[in-house]
Amino acid sequence: MNKKFDIVVIGAGLSSLMFLSRYIHNNKNQSILLIEKNKKRNINQTFCIWQGPDLIDIKKLYNLRARHVWNKIRVSYGDENVDKDIAPYSYECFDGNETLTNLLNQCKGKITFRRGLDVKKIKNHKDSVEIITSKGSIKTKYVIDSRNKISKKQYAYAPNLHQAFIGNEIIVEKEKFNPDLLTLMKFSRNKKDIEFTYILPFSKKKALVETTLFAKNPSLNNIQKIHNQSLIKHSKFRSIKKESGILPMILGRNYIDNNIIPIGLSAGMARPSTGYSMMRIAQWINSIENHKIESDNIKRFEFRPNKLLEWFDSIFLTVCYFWPQKAPILFMRLFSNADIKSIIRFMSDAPTIRDIIFIILSMPKKLMIHGLIKKYVK
Ligand SMILES: Cc1cc2nc3c(=O)[nH]c(=O)nc-3n(C[C@H](O)[C@H](O)[C@H](O)COP(=O)(O)OP(=O)(O)OC[C@H]3O[C@@H](n4cnc5c(N)ncnc54)[C@H](O)[C@@H]3O)c2cc1C
Repeated sequence: MNKKFDIVVIGAGLSSLMFLSRYIHNNKNQSILLIEKNKKRNINQTFCIWQGPDLIDIKKLYNLRARHVWNKIRVSYGDENVDKDIAPYSYECFDGNETLTNLLNQCKGKITFRRGLDVKKIKNHKDSVEIITSKGSIKTKYVIDSRNKISKKQYAYAPNLHQAFIGNEIIVEKEKFNPDLLTLMKFSRNKKDIEFTYILPFSKKKALVETTLFAKNPSLNNIQKIHNQSLIKHSKFRSIKKESGILPMILGRNYIDNNIIPIGLSAGMARPSTGYSMMRIAQWINSIENHKIESDNIKRFEFRPNKLLEWFDSIFLTVCYFWPQKAPILFMRLFSNADIKSIIRFMSDAPTIRDIIFIILSMPKKLMIHGLIKKYVK
């Protein structure tokens, strides 16, 4: 490919496509190439977000259709259930394939898209960037890089946890799910890791049942064993879809390097304490709206998480890392004591100062103070 582009976007995943679907409207005069290593879209993902007052309206802004919306959530541990009516907020889920197809369609005719190009190396030259792919080199002025590249160095220090999960969308023979009530976290006793089941009921007979671990060294093989035990409880079922992943739960991230802008997971767009990224991606895009990528304003495109939330996440992750067996109590306390609206805004990176104060007051104080001391006293 000899043509030189203004911008090359690496990876046709969530962050790139959300970014492009908005960026192209205001910047029609820049030539953009999107490259993706996979020849076919082979994702099995369900993207979920909180929606409601003071949160970015993802459906409206990105022209997306939610697959299911819940207004009631449950968090449980042992025999204790905390059920919350979350209206006027909601928890909404989007089918991954449909979402990415829809976003890509919005870019059609405005960008060039090439599949099957695997980026091997990127070289910064004086007045251009060279991208070396499996099928030759491409020259460009700017690169948006969504590859998930987290270095060993970024993962070297505690609390370096991962969120690892395996989920199956299942259909059961007898009606057993309540499609109005989402199970956000059903904790299990586990001394080493934080373990919970996440259940998205789509109908009385159909649900996504996911086993999640916040762990130091997760192995999907081990999680599969735990997950199989959890699925057996649903007696006669048929699996129609499977998804899995290992997401970083660290504060380290990649920064802009000359004309290369990292985005997505490796740029810190996944919230360290939850692994959710869709809302952070949308917030970043809002923050750069109306700006064109040019050499004199490239730093503007750096993702900068809220410092207070980052600090809070670091204490929370320290607690999860050193005292995983106490984490279920922490979550149960939080969900039963704090105002659910504050929790939702907090988890969506949009808390008010009042929300933060309420969250702090609802946490088990002794445990959080231990986390604070452990973070600063090595
Ligand atoms: C199963 C699953 C469920 C999730 N659920 C949620 C959720 O409910 N809510 C939420 O907010 N977040 C969720 N996440 C987290 C996060 O939103 C997703 O991981 C999201 O896909 C991150 O977007 P991204 O653009 O950073 O990465 P990706 O979507 O993974 O995109 C990166 C793209 O780059 C391509 N690529 C990689 N290397 C190369 C290369 N060398 N050359 C060319 N292309 C390359 C990849 O093939 C991929 O298409 C989930 C993650 C997973 C894995």
